[in-house]
Amino acid sequence: MSTNKTPAAKSGPDRDVNRVTQPSSPNAEPCPVCGRLETYQWLAAPDRFHGRKEIYTLLRCPACSLVWLSHPPQPDEMYQHYTEAYDRLISAAGEGSPQRWRDRNAALATHKQSGALLDLGCSSGAFLQTLRGRNWDLHGIEMSEQSAKIAQEKTGAKIFVGKILEAEFPTNSFDVITCFDVFEHLYEPWRVMERIGKWLKPGGIFYVLVPNIDSAEGRIFGSYWHGLELPRHLFHYSPESLEFLAKSVGLTRLSLETRRNPAVGTSLRYVWDDLFRAVGMHPTPVAYRPEAGLPWRAARKVVRSTILRALLALAPLVGGGESIHAIFRKDANV
Ligand SMILES: [Zn+2]
Repeated sequence: MSTNKTPAAKSGPDRDVNRVTQPSSPNAEPCPVCGRLETYQWLAAPDRFHGRKEIYTLLRCPACSLVWLSHPPQPDEMYQHYTEAYDRLISAAGEGSPQRWRDRNAALATHKQSGALLDLGCSSGAFLQTLRGRNWDLHGIEMSEQSAKIAQEKTGAKIFVGKILEAEFPTNSFDVITCFDVFEHLYEPWRVMERIGKWLKPGGIFYVLVPNIDSAEGRIFGSYWHGLELPRHLFHYSPESLEFLAKSVGLTRLSLETRRNPAVGTSLRYVWDDLFRAVGMHPTPVAYRPEAGLPWRAARKVVRSTILRALLALAPLVGGGESIHAIFRKDANV
């Protein structure tokens, strides 16, 4: 990680959070975004989804509030953590997506209705497809050759196959850059943010969605929060750290809100699995668990309509929503 950043301004959030487990130590890593030296351990946890044993450590910056995975797996090792089971999870999360895309299109339309648009990590083009045939010149960046091919055929967009930082576009190329559920997977988000700042036209917007580390579920479940997705999520943002990063490249916040994206069931299963292990049982990790049978589904429905509903009603008292939806603009004079 880069360590040659300018130390942080002291004006960032300096909140006392409830899971500070260790003070800063000589071994602590400086914040890769703002350069603050006195970072601390936020939490430590394994990949609970796959039921693996290796413990990962998350560090937090008290200045800009960024959380990141210390010593992440090398990029050439990462394939071991993106399994078929994880792909299935992502696909399942996309079910019922028409409403999701409609919401995003509506948010986009409040700022831009036409122009050149680039979707970072466009996968097989589900979002781009919703804009096809409108007044958009569509582009995407996608690492998977297979997904990129589908996206290209489905949407007519020009897709760059590779990493975001390998793509080359002239300065001031795009009216809109979007990035949904991707930014948390990047190794060097500050470099990608610099590119976004460069590729956007003055007045262009960056629309980004990431999980919220300071969400109610994140705070309630701590290291059991399913949104941690260790070690696949390398950076964990709060509204403050995301805005700090965007500001650092000259982007101004137009809107930033957190929305409920509850998946309490998965986090609870991680808790239960650990309880079972504590008494010598060996529960099958969530990734490899067969589709639940009818009795289990019925029980789950009862839990959802009682305990989970109560938890969700209380959640706003504990923290924000689980997803951050933010739109930033490149200032006209940049
Ligand atoms: Zn920082």
